[in-house]
Amino acid sequence: QSKDFDDDNDPGRVRVSVRVRPRNGEELISDADFSDLVELQPEIKRLKLRKNNWNSESYRFDEVFTDTASQKRVYEGVAKPVVEGVLNGYNGTIMAYGQTGTGKTYTVGKIGKDDAAERGIMVRALEDILVNASSASVSVEISYLQLYMETIQDLLAPEKNNISINEDAKTGEVSVPGATVVHIQDLDHFLQVLQVGETNRHAANTKMNTESSRSHAILTVHVRRAMNEKAETGTKSLGDKGIPKVRKSKLLIVDLAGSERINKSGTDGHLIEEAKFINLSLTSLGKCINALAEGSSHIPTRDSKLTRLLRDSFGGSARTSLIITIGPSARYHAETTSTIMFGQRAMKIVNMVKLKEE
Ligand code: ADP
Repeated sequence: QSKDFDDDNDPGRVRVSVRVRPRNGEELISDADFSDLVELQPEIKRLKLRKNNWNSESYRFDEVFTDTASQKRVYEGVAKPVVEGVLNGYNGTIMAYGQTGTGKTYTVGKIGKDDAAERGIMVRALEDILVNASSASVSVEISYLQLYMETIQDLLAPEKNNISINEDAKTGEVSVPGATVVHIQDLDHFLQVLQVGETNRHAANTKMNTESSRSHAILTVHVRRAMNEKAETGTKSLGDKGIPKVRKSKLLIVDLAGSERINKSGTDGHLIEEAKFINLSLTSLGKCINALAEGSSHIPTRDSKLTRLLRDSFGGSARTSLIITIGPSARYHAETTSTIMFGQRAMKIVNMVKLKEE
């Protein structure tokens, strides 16, 4: 039985939202039974799931988006609170979880070249951050990585295809020193860089003979703000060593690999290996989420590169938002149910929020 949260403003808890993709042509014809499986109640932020022939259970989420929800509304409900945290010095993570084909990339990564209304969370987050950056001494840098079979590839420099993660033993700070970092000037610049990343992702996956849905795409946005505490004199406040104080934070936006269970009984060795790695990272993410939900002091982030990368950006002082996506088809009963249960476990996480300063 999931716990209800009356305090929607509790900033420490992980936000969990659910979105249903609009029906495609085939589903319009053949999937009349979806409402028997899932009933959305967006006004009361609930989703009713039929468990078997006899009973259904109602689950509470932070937001419930029907197939008519706009990208703007989804951004505001899912991502904006995290982006605001990042602008105030907290790390943050926004993740999309769900079966392949349910709208993760549309929600998170859509560039919206021809129609700005279609822009997804990555573009809108940068837009918000850049608006703030222009008015203050803020610098914005990004890197864009793909994690495939426990190997980190640089989507902005495809020749870098086995980058390692560095974890600072003292501060716990996670970094990927080998990754290309691009200083972003304005939104047009970001759109270009994101497009380069998308093109490289497609090329890399074609070369490896795999689908984008088999890898995680991770956009990291580094925000650095020079602290100007002595506003009256206009001098920048100095740290111990006479270096201007800088508040650093980062935002991770993650388009996770498809969560569907892959049939391992096939004979294609490569696909079996691939499935093992996806299961490893998503299972490990699930374990971390469960540990956080239970208030455990030990969060098992070591098991996969995905959770190692997320280590300092979820739990603790970081703000986290998860959007789970489901398809509008009764055919995927098992996958839809498992996605909803994943989201429900995450709903229970309560984090301490504390301001991070360097
Ligand atoms: P995933 O990343 O989960 O595999 P996609 O984002 O690629 O799924 O979505 C599958 C298809 O459905 C794409 O063609 C995408 O453009 C379309 N789609 C997904 N969500 C929406 C939406 N909310 N509105 C319109 N089209 C959508």
